[in-house]
Order: sequence, then structure tokens, then C-alpha cells
Amino acid sequence: MFDVIAFDADDTLWHNESIFTMTQIKFREMLSSHGPEVVDQTLFSTQIKNLEHFGYGIKGFVLSMIETAIELTDGAVSGHEIQQVLEFGREMLAAPIELLPHSREVVEELSQNYSLLLITKGDLIDQETKIARSGLADYFDGVEIVSDKTAGTYSKILTRHKIDASRFMMIGNSMRSDIVPIVQIGAHAVHVPYLSTWEHEQDHPPVDPEHYTELEHLGLLPQLIRKTK
Ligand SMILES: [Mg+2]
Repeated sequence: MFDVIAFDADDTLWHNESIFTMTQIKFREMLSSHGPEVVDQTLFSTQIKNLEHFGYGIKGFVLSMIETAIELTDGAVSGHEIQQVLEFGREMLAAPIELLPHSREVVEELSQNYSLLLITKGDLIDQETKIARSGLADYFDGVEIVSDKTAGTYSKILTRHKIDASRFMMIGNSMRSDIVPIVQIGAHAVHVPYLSTWEHEQDHPPVDPEHYTELEHLGLLPQLIRKTK
């Protein structure tokens, strides 16, 4: 049934959103005189505005935090505080990779019978080093680090690897990035929700639940693939 099985990385194979959430808590404390809702809302709208310029990932997040601090303090934010934000970013980049339950076993098992791809978006260096540090790199036949995940992005990857959409499965935590575009190109999508989802990734066009599969955790994936055969 399937020639290629592709995985999203962040919040599908390993924890990621939790690192952003923890940093945002520290950022709120830094700007505590403005109230957490104001800080969160300003940061979110700054991030969305900046996505097309800086893309997804930690570097763009750091720049958006700096811009938010400048805006909320009317330019009075100190050099010391900006340094603190840069330090938040360095800590995020150095955060250890924590694999999600079942990810190693499932990737190892499926790699024996299928060609596996890793498709992730974000900062190039950050994603490359995370893949290397995850210890999972050897199970994948290819890694695609893209700036965004749209139907067009996936179609190009499939064309380049000569994969038929009907024989392609993508597994991921984000409806917006991993499921909706995959359903749009006529491939199989498996949604494995993470503990929390960034607001932006929750914003997506409607998709018929009959057109994709939802699993509670990755450990259920091999069984699903066997059933679909
Ligand atoms: Mg993800």
C-alpha cells in the first residue's frame, strides 16, 4: 500500500512546543509590568507578522520577542534585557532532544520495510543538529527541511523523490502543516496530537475527518499500517 512513510519531527518525534512555552513564561516575567495577556498577544501578532520575513523557528521567535519588548516598553527596553532574550534563544537551541514515547521503536521498526522521510520546517542549522542529536537520523532515507508545509511543498518533494501520492503516508502533530496539505494532494495523513499546539498551527481550513486518521500515540502506527495494507 505504501512506498514511503514520512514523519514530521517537532512534537511528533520529539518535544518542541514545550521549549517555546517555557521560554514564553520567562519572557512574560521579564515584561511583568505589562501583564501576561498583553505580552502573549503582542508576541503572537508580531510572530505572525514576521513569519513571511523570518520563517518558522527559534531565530524568528527571538527576533519577535525583541520586537515585542521594544514595542511594549516604547523603546525603553535595556541592552541588558535584550541580551537576556538572546540568551533565552541560545538556551532553546541547546535544549536536549527529548524523544516522545514510542518514536524510536516505531521509526526503527518501520525502517525495516519502508523508505522513511523526515519532513520538518524551521531553522536549517537548528533542525539539522536536532536530527543529528536525536539518534534517529540513520533510520531515514531522506531529510527535507522546508520553510513552510503547503500542498505545493509536499507535491514538489513527492515529484523529486518520484513518489505516487496514493502510496505516501505523512505522520504529524499539526493539522495545518502535516494533515490538511497531505489530504489536499490525495495522500494518507495520520494525525498524532501533541500535548499543546501553537495557536497558529490550530488555524487551518476544515478537513473531513474521514480523509485522515487520528492516533492517540505513535505506538499505534505500525498496527494501522498493517491494517491499511
Ligand atoms: Mg510538528
